[in-house]
Amino acid sequence: MEKMGAWGGVPRQLLRRLRDIMAGAGSAQERLDRVVKIIAAEMVAEVCSAYVRRAGDVLELCATEGLRPEAVHRTTLRVGEGLVGDIAEEARPLALADAQAHPNFAYRPETGEEIFHSLMGVPILREGRVSGVLVVQNRTMRQYTEEEIETLETIAMVLAELVASGELISRALPGAPGAEPALPLRLPGVRICGGIAIGRAVLHQPTVVIRRVVAEDPEVELGRLRAAVAELHDALDRMMAAADLSASGEHRDVLEAYRMFAEDRGWLGRIREAIRSGLTAEAAVQKVQNDTRVRMNQIEDEYLRERLQDLEDLNNRLLTHLAGGIGAMPAAELPDDAVLVAHNLGPAELLDYDRRKLRAVVLEEGSPTAHVSIVARALDIPVVGRVKDVFSRVDPLDPMIVDGDGSVVLLRPTEEAKQAFAQAIRARAEREAAYAKLRDLPAATKDGVAISLNINAGLLLDLGHLDDGNADGVGLYRTEIPFMIRAAFPDVRAQEDLYRQVLRGAGDRPVTFRTLDVGGDKLLPYFASGHEDNPAMGWRAIRIALDRPFMLRQQLRALVRAAQGRELRVMFPMVAEVAEFEAARRIMELEVQHAARRGGRPLAVKIGAMLEVPALAYQLPALFRVADFVSVGSNDLMQFLFAADRGSPRLADRYDVLSPPVLSLLGSLVKQAEAAGKPLALCGEMASRPIEAMALIGLGFRILSMAPSSVGPVKAMVRKLDTRPLADLVRDLCRRSEHSVRETLRTFARDHEVPI
Ligand code: PEP
Ligand code: MG
Repeated sequence: MEKMGAWGGVPRQLLRRLRDIMAGAGSAQERLDRVVKIIAAEMVAEVCSAYVRRAGDVLELCATEGLRPEAVHRTTLRVGEGLVGDIAEEARPLALADAQAHPNFAYRPETGEEIFHSLMGVPILREGRVSGVLVVQNRTMRQYTEEEIETLETIAMVLAELVASGELISRALPGAPGAEPALPLRLPGVRICGGIAIGRAVLHQPTVVIRRVVAEDPEVELGRLRAAVAELHDALDRMMAAADLSASGEHRDVLEAYRMFAEDRGWLGRIREAIRSGLTAEAAVQKVQNDTRVRMNQIEDEYLRERLQDLEDLNNRLLTHLAGGIGAMPAAELPDDAVLVAHNLGPAELLDYDRRKLRAVVLEEGSPTAHVSIVARALDIPVVGRVKDVFSRVDPLDPMIVDGDGSVVLLRPTEEAKQAFAQAIRARAEREAAYAKLRDLPAATKDGVAISLNINAGLLLDLGHLDDGNADGVGLYRTEIPFMIRAAFPDVRAQEDLYRQVLRGAGDRPVTFRTLDVGGDKLLPYFASGHEDNPAMGWRAIRIALDRPFMLRQQLRALVRAAQGRELRVMFPMVAEVAEFEAARRIMELEVQHAARRGGRPLAVKIGAMLEVPALAYQLPALFRVADFVSVGSNDLMQFLFAADRGSPRLADRYDVLSPPVLSLLGSLVKQAEAAGKPLALCGEMASRPIEAMALIGLGFRILSMAPSSVGPVKAMVRKLDTRPLADLVRDLCRRSEHSVRETLRTFARDHEVPI
């Protein structure tokens, strides 16, 4: 027999034996029983136990060599409980010479483990999830070596398939804790995109599913790895050589660093080592990826974590090359009513899934302003974010209800809950049908005041919604979204094409483009802006634009060219002072002159500022002398007004936009705009909710821009409104001292039969 050697030195013979047992006859239980025996013998340990994670975050002892057999299927630990629970929670190995002295040691008398002093355990990881824990124990106070930990990790990889099959845990004895079927769970989160859906869970696995773990011939696997690495390098080189990326700049530095990672000898060396120990090339990449993930979880420093995230991405790419280019779950395997569950998701990753089968998205992280949220909103898919630990609590194809309106997810719901929600879905569909009937009617109040209803957009996809509700135009086009989805900075021509398509998609309706609003939480993959303690108040939006005028010029040039022969409307985000606006406006004028010299300029150019920083509210007379219009970005304005981070779930309900300070500030903006004779719009989330839109109209706002799905409900509200009594009420509310005047407005709506 081969001896266990250096790094990851699992004898290949052992791996083959394990593989043969796993592929051989017998039930999953019988095979696991045989496997733990062999591992105990090979690792020279008195005990080897396999714990399997079942829904509800319970780890169940499913097989053991060395502990009392009657403990099998009886002993359970919660994730986080005891040393085994710790290994599962942290997803990292643990090796202790004196386990019982550890503060987390949880004694289970039925196992008879008191005589074993040392313990080494590793997580059984499958597709980024902890699906169990593999443990060995010894009587003596044994010091396990790094090599032994590596060995056990490799064995755990081989076991992962068997453990995740689900066959092991169904035989739990009645009465044992955790033996009952996984219970329904109500998991609160944060509303990211409204709507309700019922469906079945699909766990987002960015990696390729690995079917073969143990190699027949390491030389063949090394050859496959070489070929896949060469393909990966070629693909990266092609990306770097693309015309729009070949110029120097920060994006290029980022890509160079990325490519250096791809050539990292340490990384490739570890993969080769794992292949030599008997794994297939894919399994070896995944093993190294598991190690990286564990390291990532331990690192506090955000910069380093991001670099490791790059490595994660490279691992994924390499796996994709090894698998011959298979990426996300093939459409055929996706259930028709998929609820996508992910830690986090990139916008492009969401678009990889078949929209027709996607009912909802649930994220452990995520914020309403994250890129994926904006894409989900464009697709009109309900999304609940910040749902703690959902990924580990749900099993594939578990039934789920996602209530985006109520910010909650129901896991394995009861029949009654399903029926209640099905009823809510029907009621919603009826309401939507009623809004559709209003489509061709004007958005005017009962007393004849016309309100301009516009949509916020950021993807070409959104423009289709202009027609749904017959909106007047696009009041806010967030240009950064296409930049965030791409792997590289789009050049002038690419941008020009895109903007032309946007204008074409909008037809005769006006589109107000907002220049790049990056920085803050909107990071571009190829633009390093450096770490900031307070990114929302950091180097972002117009601040970057003025410091890197080349980027702004490119964007404005593309906009001017795309709008040739029609009106161009552009606004700048996060303007804090008139001087900034004037500087940006000058750059715009240069671009218009440049275009005029080339013989093609827009018919008219209207340049506006977003009012998102409170300081600008005190410079309105001066601003209106140089700006053609102003649009209030209430999302940012509120966060700066109340000094309350808009992404913080703890603060989400702390202050109300329907409160005296906000109403009086907004009311004063309206008065100043009227005095200047310039248009004032509002394009934050506030305009999307009927009750808030009602208050805005009461203050005198006549131009609102909102999420496309809000046009119907807001129009229904407008058509029942009489602005005169409302204006009187709102004027009075501005002088009140309450925390919120929402209830008073609600009562007004009820009394006047205004649907909100
Ligand atoms: C806002 O801040 O209100 C706004 C419309 O911009 P964004 O949500 O894109 O920051
Ligand atoms: Mg903003």
